Amino acid sequence: MLRQALNSGTSFCVKRGLLTMRAEQLRPLRNMSLSSSVELTADRYPDVKRHNFALLDSNHVQFFKSVLGQDRVLTDAEELETYNVDWLKMVRGSSKIVLKPKTTEEVSQILRFCNSENLAVCPQGGNTGLVGGSVPVFDEVIVSTALMNNIISLDELSGVLVCQAGCILETLETYLQDRGLMMPLDLGAKGSCQIGGNVSTNAGGLRLLRYGSLQGNVLGIEAVKADGEVIDCLSCLKKDNTGYHLKHLFIGSEGTLGLVTKVAIQCPPNPKSINTAFLGLNSFDDVLRTYKDARAGLGEILSSCEMMDAQSLDACTSNLKLRNPIGDFPFYMLIETAGSNGKHDEEKLTHFLEQSMADGIVQDGTVATEPSRIKQMWNIRESISLALLSEGYLYKYDISLPHDSFYSIIPELTKRLPSHYIRCCGYGHIGDGNLHLNVTSKEYDHNILDAIEPFVYEWTSKLRGSVSAEHGIGFKKTKFIHYSKSQSSLNLMKDIKNIMDPNGILNPYKVLPSIWEPRERVTDAYMCDGFLFSYDLSLPYANYYELVEKTIERLSGCSSVVRICGHGHIGKSLMFFCDGNLHLNITSKEYDHEILELMEPFVFEWTSKLQGSVSAEHGIGFKKTKFVHYSKSRSSLNLMKDIKNIMDPNGILNPYKMLWDIRERVAEALINDGYWYTYDLSLPHKHFYDIVGKMEERLSNHPKVKRVTGLGHLGDGNLHLNVTSKEFDQEVFGLIEPFVFECTSKLRGSVSAEHGIGFTKTKFIHFSKFHGSLNLMKGIKKMMDPKGILNPYKVLP
Ligand SMILES: Cc1cc2nc3c(=O)[nH]c(=O)nc-3n(C[C@H](O)[C@H](O)[C@H](O)COP(=O)(O)OP(=O)(O)OC[C@H]3O[C@@H](n4cnc5c(N)ncnc54)[C@H](O)[C@@H]3O)c2cc1C
Repeated sequence: MLRQALNSGTSFCVKRGLLTMRAEQLRPLRNMSLSSSVELTADRYPDVKRHNFALLDSNHVQFFKSVLGQDRVLTDAEELETYNVDWLKMVRGSSKIVLKPKTTEEVSQILRFCNSENLAVCPQGGNTGLVGGSVPVFDEVIVSTALMNNIISLDELSGVLVCQAGCILETLETYLQDRGLMMPLDLGAKGSCQIGGNVSTNAGGLRLLRYGSLQGNVLGIEAVKADGEVIDCLSCLKKDNTGYHLKHLFIGSEGTLGLVTKVAIQCPPNPKSINTAFLGLNSFDDVLRTYKDARAGLGEILSSCEMMDAQSLDACTSNLKLRNPIGDFPFYMLIETAGSNGKHDEEKLTHFLEQSMADGIVQDGTVATEPSRIKQMWNIRESISLALLSEGYLYKYDISLPHDSFYSIIPELTKRLPSHYIRCCGYGHIGDGNLHLNVTSKEYDHNILDAIEPFVYEWTSKLRGSVSAEHGIGFKKTKFIHYSKSQSSLNLMKDIKNIMDPNGILNPYKVLPSIWEPRERVTDAYMCDGFLFSYDLSLPYANYYELVEKTIERLSGCSSVVRICGHGHIGKSLMFFCDGNLHLNITSKEYDHEILELMEPFVFEWTSKLQGSVSAEHGIGFKKTKFVHYSKSRSSLNLMKDIKNIMDPNGILNPYKMLWDIRERVAEALINDGYWYTYDLSLPHKHFYDIVGKMEERLSNHPKVKRVTGLGHLGDGNLHLNVTSKEFDQEVFGLIEPFVFECTSKLRGSVSAEHGIGFTKTKFIHFSKFHGSLNLMKGIKKMMDPKGILNPYKVLP
């Protein structure tokens, strides 16, 4: 029996934000002696060497005071303590200065100066990050965004909020709730973390299941590059396809590519009814079953789906004296629904829970509809980190894993741990496949760490999970990033870093693994030989070496071979193990057909015989299409080919086809007029249709013009403006362009909402891309395609 009957018909909005941990709770380090007891990062990680940055001197301090005034330059050792230590008390820097700018211009002046003086910088938001990214490793200048906390605008129709980076997440939530909206993200640290920090870490949290990631919800960003240049990508448009999506460079790059100063984010309506269920279950299989049933049974109103094991709950009840609302079970789940019709939502949840209990999957549960009880339930889930931290030292891991292997790592790891650990537990966002794995001990212990790392990452990598689901890489995970990122991706990340911060002053020692440099650049080294034949195979462990040996034997008479090698084993063999994934490389001075003939299809036949895959991670592309049958059965290939037919090419299975026909065939109808001038614009809702009227007025007396029309995706602020004439007419064309782009630009719209820039819009891209954005795009293009051979004359003017 559910412990509490649902209140039928009640609907209200809930301010769950009020239960938040506040700064005092989130920063137990205000007490200086506690902070000082944390070992210096430089001592704990002696392998990490300080780069050759300048040391802070009195002239530097003088300059910062001239920009910010005395009050916003902190140099007092005691005051600096909390900025130098992270929330987990895991890392401690020794910065001598904290700067607190209020405006983008001040940030720009600070960074320009630091860049010219070779001073390293650590951007800091709320300092709630869990991977050691937010505090200096050595003596970097800390730039805190705490005073950049203005809300700039809110468009209540589209729900787009624009604010400075230092706004605290909970402050934004409260502001929005008063206006019928909410933030698309929510996390336990909301009382301290800032939107700039959230964006820079691409934070996930409790609402991702329903509203998606920040990569989708952040519409625009303003950021300052290391050299002080302001990159204005602060678009408020839901659709803006004008070339490279530069905002993504700053989302999740953890302050290594620029300092985020403003954010534009889309905010969904605040749900009218919220119901929360706290459930007890006997096994992890039952957790999975419940999640599956919740997705099916609750559908569009399912807004959160969290799990925790008994040890996680016990940490809260034992260490923080929180009350378990139900009995003792091996696993617990928190399921929340959010919708617009209280009665409907409650009925759905009740039906789902009754069914789950009748099936014996859910053992016990309680449902809350009142804000205070909902708050209590969430308080348990959101306090787990704090409860674990209070045991002493917390080894924290945040991994993405496939659902069927989600929890098995916990018992496996428990077996490996030396006896003096206190607790090993798991909780997390089951709906997102994101497990938080935690081990605690009285104090930091190297033996415990050795039992966990790299085991956790190897395990994750074997399952093709991610070593960082939502917390980022920071300082702590740099040397493990290769478990989740391919060598070519890492090279590209480094090249981007070099373009945007050539002196490496922004958050050094974070995200990018400099100590892994030789290993990551192995492909570059091969390329120096001339030509590279590269094979990326999945093979059973027992048979890796056989293929390398066979290759050496097979190519022994081939004089053009320079090496069959890898990882420095010159002339012999390459073994690049990762999840049964072998990269076999053969180099020659130039392309040699004989090598190709000897290797293909031999290498694929060999792989197939061992039931491996002809492409472990690089895909099929063009090169491997004719070998795909070595890994895909004939029937799978047939199925792939048949999919189009299976999906009913005549469209008779789509009962709404007739309605959509009108909308979908507009283009066909317009082309029938003769010549079609078409524009795909993003515009603010308030002025969405104005341009159609203006264009009609402008072209009204022109004899060649047949029609001026507007249609589009209203919900996305995306207008398709169309003009037709019997044939192309230069005069009509001149009346439309650049007028249409000028009007769009005045409203800060986009000259391409979704169709892209292509060839025809290159000379108008500057109407939508401002200041440094175009230069940055050109820099990236030059870095990735220095000879400009890829789609020349397109996108970039
Ligand atoms: C109790 C608790 C619960 C948490 N729950 C979650 C959760 O559910 N999901 C989740 O994803 N995370 C969670 N976190 C981790 C953390 O709160 C997030 O990573 C958060 O987004 C960090 O924001 P912040 O303002 O505190 O950033 P900080 O910790 O100050 O900084 C984080 C990183 O971003 C960089 N940075 C900060 N501001 C800027 C800026 N303006 N420009 C450029 N770089 C910047 C820093 O240099 C650093 O590398 C939790 C943390 C705690 C303590």
